[in-house]
Amino acid sequence: MSTKVADLNKLYINGEWVQAESGQSFDVINPATGEIVSPVPKGGEKEAKLAVDAAHEALKSWSRTTSYERSSLLKKWHDLLIENKEEVARVLVEEQGKPLSEALGEVGYAASFISWYAEEAKRIYGETVPASFHDKRILLIKQPVGVVAAITPWNFPAAMITRKVAPALAAGCTAVIKPAELTPLTAIKLAELAEKAGIPKGVINVITGDAQQIGQTWLQDERVAKITFTGSTEVGKLLMRGAAETVKKVSLELGGHAPVIVFGDADLDKAVSGVIGSKFRNCGQTCVCANRIYVEKSILPKFTAKLKEDVAKIKVGLGYEPDADIGPLINKAAYTKVKKHIDDAVEKGAVIEHGGNRIKEYSNGYFFEPTILSGVHEEMVIMQEETFGPVAPIIEFTSIEDVIEKANSSRYGLAAYAFTESLKTAITAYEKLEFGIVGINDGVPSTAQAPFGGLKESGLGREGGHHGLDEFLEVKYVSIKL
Ligand code: ADP
Repeated sequence: MSTKVADLNKLYINGEWVQAESGQSFDVINPATGEIVSPVPKGGEKEAKLAVDAAHEALKSWSRTTSYERSSLLKKWHDLLIENKEEVARVLVEEQGKPLSEALGEVGYAASFISWYAEEAKRIYGETVPASFHDKRILLIKQPVGVVAAITPWNFPAAMITRKVAPALAAGCTAVIKPAELTPLTAIKLAELAEKAGIPKGVINVITGDAQQIGQTWLQDERVAKITFTGSTEVGKLLMRGAAETVKKVSLELGGHAPVIVFGDADLDKAVSGVIGSKFRNCGQTCVCANRIYVEKSILPKFTAKLKEDVAKIKVGLGYEPDADIGPLINKAAYTKVKKHIDDAVEKGAVIEHGGNRIKEYSNGYFFEPTILSGVHEEMVIMQEETFGPVAPIIEFTSIEDVIEKANSSRYGLAAYAFTESLKTAITAYEKLEFGIVGINDGVPSTAQAPFGGLKESGLGREGGHHGLDEFLEVKYVSIKL
């Protein structure tokens, strides 16, 4: 099977490939080259409602399928994604800008959620609870929540969809999906593969277009039982407020401001490669990217020297350059923010140890040098706001109590990392860090079978693992009197 990217210019509603009723479209731009990849339909209220009509109708039969039937269809979807991984990865390269190696990595990661939930669908167990009376029985059964609306971001256009939709489908829910306007083509491609896999019409629907209109339509529609969202904390709050109107369930994966703590006894190679994995993956554009790197004073010079040496080896490049490790920032706004964080830090006394500039050679995209800042302190903007770019700020520390307090002094609580060879230090760190995910000597903890999610303003709910399936299930208590 081979689809041109231009063929992805359509909405998928109730198993039909359609255009927006308004006839309007908007362009998807390749962030690496500035070229138009493809127009896509600009859907709005009308299409959003049609999608819910379809998902609501499909729910009647989909929610009654057996776990084994759903599992088998999910497996087929997974297998088709793997068979077509090169093609899907190329769509990612075109619309997201990440290099082919990273894009292939994302497709594998995206597929892993489908295969994992294909298995987990078979383990939606109920419970029996001992009753207080001889003539009573208490049963707990799990049922799908209903129609799920998924709104996803541009940094992982494939994985952020499968991480939501695979457990939703496994649970017996149907889905309406709105991918980010910057990267909608991968979502359309995934829907195409889902259709080929035989997932029935209406079970998955994809709408591209006006985010606000689509979001509002879904929030107001009482048939939508759940909103699952990954994106900014601001939009997350807005959706949570809106969901209150009809008391929808919400899962929110929002911003982060991840601290990394490198203790004096850390294995230097592990620490540096962990920091690089966490900081520079996807050009620093993930919500679990290191945003504050606290290094114990005793090893600061050694750590900084090794980090500089290894960061110098990172190759920034165009998607199809074979040795490219990372691609561009997504757009001008992303570049402006990165630049602002660096300028502010330098103005307040930070030193640029490496990088610090836009790469001019690629004038049509916002490619940025992997950057290291030293002498960073708490008053700098970079220590408060999520950078979402390839900038590693280093802060010196001397005591474990002090560094954990500083690490926790954030409105965010998604991911944190600690590097140490001491079991006691590791346990102290993971117990005291107020974050939903803690990597100990591990800079890249995300995986399908583990629950991903944040505390504080980083979000609500978990994605991945059996906890991620529970997000799409209601517990019904049945009391039987004999
Ligand atoms: P980012 O700043 O990373 O682009 P956003 O939170 O703006 O993050 O976007 C994440 C997703 O939320 C995208 O799919 C975007 O279209 C969508 N979105 C943005 N604003 C709204 C809104 N008002 N209602 C519903 N969805 C929205």
